[in-house]
Amino acid sequence: MPKFTSLSTLQSALRARTTSVRSVVQHYLDQIETHQSLNAYVEVWAEEALAQADALDLRLRQKKPLGKLFGAVVSLKDNICYAGHQVTAASKILEGFTSLYSATAVERILAEDAIIIGRTNCDQFGMGSSNENSVYGPVRNAAAPDRVPGGSSGGAAVSVQADTCLVAMGSDTGGSIRQPAAFCGLWGFKPSYGCISRHGLIAYGSSFDQIGFLANNPDDIARFLEVCAGPDAFDSTVADYGLQIAGSQSRSSRIAWIPEVLDSPGLDTGVRAVFLAYIEQLKSAGHQLIPVELPKLGEGTMLDYLVPTYYVLTTAEASSNLARYDGVRYGYRASGAKNLEETYRLTRTEGFSDEVKRRILLGTFVLSSGYYDAYYQKAQQVRRLIQEQTLAILSSNDFLLMPVAPTVAWPIGEKSDDPVAMYLADIFTVQANLAGVPALALPAGAHPENGLPVGVQLLAGLGADVKLLSAFT
Ligand code: GLN
Repeated sequence: MPKFTSLSTLQSALRARTTSVRSVVQHYLDQIETHQSLNAYVEVWAEEALAQADALDLRLRQKKPLGKLFGAVVSLKDNICYAGHQVTAASKILEGFTSLYSATAVERILAEDAIIIGRTNCDQFGMGSSNENSVYGPVRNAAAPDRVPGGSSGGAAVSVQADTCLVAMGSDTGGSIRQPAAFCGLWGFKPSYGCISRHGLIAYGSSFDQIGFLANNPDDIARFLEVCAGPDAFDSTVADYGLQIAGSQSRSSRIAWIPEVLDSPGLDTGVRAVFLAYIEQLKSAGHQLIPVELPKLGEGTMLDYLVPTYYVLTTAEASSNLARYDGVRYGYRASGAKNLEETYRLTRTEGFSDEVKRRILLGTFVLSSGYYDAYYQKAQQVRRLIQEQTLAILSSNDFLLMPVAPTVAWPIGEKSDDPVAMYLADIFTVQANLAGVPALALPAGAHPENGLPVGVQLLAGLGADVKLLSAFT
């Protein structure tokens, strides 16, 4: 159990002076110390966090106005920029790089008095599903330290799971918030595409990436969303969805689900059982559960095309986004190069991990003349169909219920040599990013055999973020 269960109870305690911001920060710093072996943080900003805490305590004593997030202690995934602080996307290629500016989302939470305690480990450039692909080494799941926490926001998930902060800010390109949330027994939210500015988020797949949050409850996430969402001059893809936190709650939602997912090849029987039990639980809570049959697509249905479409398009975008790391402008530069071309080659050879290189190669291939039409353009067309089918389900229902991942957290090392097995583990999460819709992972129970956390997720229509976050609270 976390010491501070929610932001609202914490803020009441602070106002009643039964605790101080300094003692809150000190509690989290102690927890970070205790759980060092989990490798969730790559850097802790202890002095700074304590100084901010003291400034807030003074304002509390003087009864001065406080921001909406006062007292909230936050961890930052190592791919989100914070001015004057290092950021590396867990890659050697950004070694020693210090941000010149803060991400818009970071500026907005700081303006509302949140305290950032440190930056968390992740998969390199957000590429991975296990947080093993990091220059800082793997993160361990606090529920079972020999297992992965999920990825790519694995450090973010463990930072909340191990009670080292109240909320973690992460990013989700194809499940990187929701899958680790499910593996660690937390709530994890990916907003609608364009809900939160991507300015200051290190780009992986720009038409998929979104900043989002992991927490112990949906209410804390909603409070952060409200602060971070909305137009930003630095990101023209932000749409004004007009989010308002006092969402209308319905005690009887129409919740679609796709029986075909139960036949999905890699679906673990225990995960399946928890998913089915959760359906029953929703029914007894008064919700309508609507089984949906997917229209045919090619040889099968949309489910067969999710992973291939996602990986063609995100590797294409990654190959273009990562071209900027050339040893000249950012971070690491290989020594011993004799000319400019060798500087590029050696820097990129030494700076990127194998997985990042694999994706740059794949992405360059699908974009190359001669293959562009067959792969990239085809995948764009399929993406459109996936989006249309997803939006069609969500226009006649409030939500779509899906598993988060086919399995529970696997042992560290189990899939490291098999990238395709790792990619297939993303089958249920990438749909929301392909379609751009919001998705919320939540803890659904424990696996019947090994007791590990199992999550489910709910997808909602574009811009229905608040409706989703307030659905079951
Ligand atoms: N596992 C997926 C990938 O490797 C998702 C990562 C993410 O959401 N950043 O691309």
